[in-house]
Amino acid sequence: MTMDNETLKNELQDLLGPKGWLDGDGPNDDIEPFITEWRGFWRGSCIGVAKPASTEEVAKIVTLCAQAATPISVIGGNTGLVGGGVPGGGIVLSTARLNTIRSMDPDNLTMTVEAGCILAHIQDTAKQAGMLFPLSMASQGSCQIGGNLSTNAGGVAVLRYGNARDLVLGLEVVLPSGEIWNNLKALRKDNTGYDLKHLFMGAEGTLGIITAAVLKLSPQPLARETALIALPDVEAALKAFTALRGACYDALTAFEIISQSALELVEKHIAGTKGLFTQTHPYYALVELTSTRPMDSLRDILLGCLEPALESGIISDALIAENESQATSFWHIRESIPQAQVLEGPSIKHDISVPISAIPVFMTRAKQAILQIQPDVRIIAFGHMGDGNLHYNLSQPIAMDDHEFRAMWDDFNRIVHDIVMDMDGSFSAEHGIGQLKRRDLARYASPVEIELMRSVKSVLDPQNIMNPGKVIPDPIDKKTRLMP
Ligand SMILES: Cc1cc2nc3c(=O)[nH]c(=O)nc-3n(C[C@H](O)[C@H](O)[C@H](O)COP(=O)(O)OP(=O)(O)OC[C@H]3O[C@@H](n4cnc5c(N)ncnc54)[C@H](O)[C@@H]3O)c2cc1C
Repeated sequence: MTMDNETLKNELQDLLGPKGWLDGDGPNDDIEPFITEWRGFWRGSCIGVAKPASTEEVAKIVTLCAQAATPISVIGGNTGLVGGGVPGGGIVLSTARLNTIRSMDPDNLTMTVEAGCILAHIQDTAKQAGMLFPLSMASQGSCQIGGNLSTNAGGVAVLRYGNARDLVLGLEVVLPSGEIWNNLKALRKDNTGYDLKHLFMGAEGTLGIITAAVLKLSPQPLARETALIALPDVEAALKAFTALRGACYDALTAFEIISQSALELVEKHIAGTKGLFTQTHPYYALVELTSTRPMDSLRDILLGCLEPALESGIISDALIAENESQATSFWHIRESIPQAQVLEGPSIKHDISVPISAIPVFMTRAKQAILQIQPDVRIIAFGHMGDGNLHYNLSQPIAMDDHEFRAMWDDFNRIVHDIVMDMDGSFSAEHGIGQLKRRDLARYASPVEIELMRSVKSVLDPQNIMNPGKVIPDPIDKKTRLMP
């Protein structure tokens, strides 16, 4: 017989005590942060919030929920951008108390951490030990490693170190049955059958709960050069990127593109960011080179690329950071773009990727198609160009009403995503699917791919209790794919 929700709540309260259980019938202020997406775009509901302090407690919670067939939504730092952690009933499981760094092995260059460790804390701990955990993004002061792995986060150092999944050697996962799968191995070679850990990374909490991970560290860079270069067009950005990659290869750690329209918003809304260049340019790129060899003269390598590029007109101007604080101010500009865009008003966002070589063609095609249906829309393009990943965002035309603009959301998404998919790209490069992009997945993924996802889900989670309503399209969404 299935357990009812009242019995489940009592069992969870007994198991977790007052520190570990917030009842959904309790004060709304306590529950609110766990059911509301950080921007307020989505608000869900739940019967209570479980805050386990150990993997064993997670396993017991999941076992009880499986007996009651009650859904579980996991919440980490709640910085996700696709509504993946917002509950639609059932319980919320917060990983905030699973925040221990279990061990570090400097000789093996690994660190074993629990899912609720804040990304910045992991970076700091690695740094204090003379090592680097390279995953890095503007949300790092709030997001948790469990969320990073569950979304396979990207960030600003993918070019050199890869996405979150590339930084993991082993995982510990609580399965939807309540069993613990302990795969906390710190091995760089292990070809013993299917590499199951990759199923859980990028699954956004739909296949199980990541409770701990063995992370791959790198040596701490000892030399760094940061430059902001001005560019006449996107083709030039590609040429500059190719020249830098040719000259530095693995020393090229970041190549972030910023359109003039994006810089304009930052200068307007974020204090202390004005007047870096004496004149405006259509595009800029934030370039970072790093090396673990202190004798490497990154400055010479950088100048060796930038000087001929200036002479030939590939780049129009360049600022090289003379110290740490100037480098930080360049990064501040790049990382303030999303906030500046919020302060400017409504925007429609696209997190896309295409092969790096195809970025100029994508930009031309997308701009033409968008301006054809709304000539006053403001295109705010920026992002991780070195990974082929652009945040291709559209800000509301100045004279347009909010409602009218928001009503065009689906049209703009369709235009941009159709072009991306026609170019063998991705309509979700780093933010995942969550609930925001399920219809896109239904439209663009092949039937074989969707069926494979459904099969994996039904084998691991036959009761569909892990984050239902996220990632995998409902059968009804399947109809979307048949629509013209
Ligand atoms: C200012 C800002 C900048 C950002 N920059 C980037 C960027 O550069 N690159 C990028 O990729 N993203 C970026 N993001 C998005 C976001 O920070 C990442 O997606 C991050 O990885 C989410 O981590 P989180 O702990 O906040 O997860 P949450 O938002 O809490 O959860 C995200 C998803 O993972 C699931 N989940 C969380 N923890 C677990 C777990 N332990 N086990 C199973 N499932 C779990 C949730 O159910 C949900 O579906 C940015 C966000 C902001 C606000």
